Amino acid sequence: DISLSDYKNKSFRYLSNNIELQNKIEECLNNKTNAFININENGKYLNIELSYINTEWLSGVILTIDDVTLLMNLENNKKEFFQNASHELKSPLTCIIGYQQMITEGIVDKEDEIKESARKSLKEAIRMNGILSDMLSLATIEAHSSEPKENINPKELILEMVEALSLEASRQNIKITTNIDDEMLYASKNEFNEIVRNLIDNAIKYNKENGSIELILKDGVLTVSDTGIGIKDEDKSRIFERFYRVDKGRSKKSGGTGLGLAIIKHICLNNNYRIELESRILEGSSFKIYFK
Ligand code: ADP
Repeated sequence: DISLSDYKNKSFRYLSNNIELQNKIEECLNNKTNAFININENGKYLNIELSYINTEWLSGVILTIDDVTLLMNLENNKKEFFQNASHELKSPLTCIIGYQQMITEGIVDKEDEIKESARKSLKEAIRMNGILSDMLSLATIEAHSSEPKENINPKELILEMVEALSLEASRQNIKITTNIDDEMLYASKNEFNEIVRNLIDNAIKYNKENGSIELILKDGVLTVSDTGIGIKDEDKSRIFERFYRVDKGRSKKSGGTGLGLAIIKHICLNNNYRIELESRILEGSSFKIYFK
């Protein structure tokens, strides 16, 4: 947003009010040297190369400015992901080590206490395994643009998934109803299953006792609605971030990894499927995926 006339024949100090950059330019002019700096200003990361030039007709410093904001943001995202992932894996591992130490050091020695410690460490190991499988799925989805598509029978796949998750639902007395078109869908079977599994799984986990879940597939649009705890407006976009949970305790207790919706988001991004979320706190949520 600058016009040449505003800067022509003016001191370089008009170009930027970044003191570090101004000093570097001055240094290069005075010492007749080259330099390199990176500055981070107003959310932008800039790599700036300063080259001193001195010819018959011109002397000064040429600035080559490389905007590396996108790259830096990616780098920061990666760093944040590794930090979160290490933390997520470290906490179950710390528990496992603790229980195993109690057994091996004889701090628990009665048979039922040993069994209880073993049971708890097994539970944590299963949790770690779940986090690692979700991390691997996410990495695979991110690495490939999208999986090969075929004509799939969504009714069959959804009913199979409902059957597989019905035991978990019945534990909380949650009723699942379905209303699914008989149409075929052109999609990847694995990706379709992954979306359906994660959405039903969440609709069970974040539901209320005696609640209900409704699954509708009409004209290529899948709707999964629940009568659960709902999601606040400020959390609606954040829940699709990796490892973001509204209530960490509840997610952990129900075996959540914090990666289910991130997996769904990436599958949808790769395939241009639109996601819509409607939710009212304490009333329930409804996730819609447009497969067409
Ligand atoms: P998690 O393994 O924790 O369930 P997800 O990525 O699947 O991870 O979901 C992220 C968070 O979004 C959850 O921890 C929960 O707070 C919120 N959430 C997801 N689905 C629902 C839902 N149907 N109702 C209320 N909250 C939900």
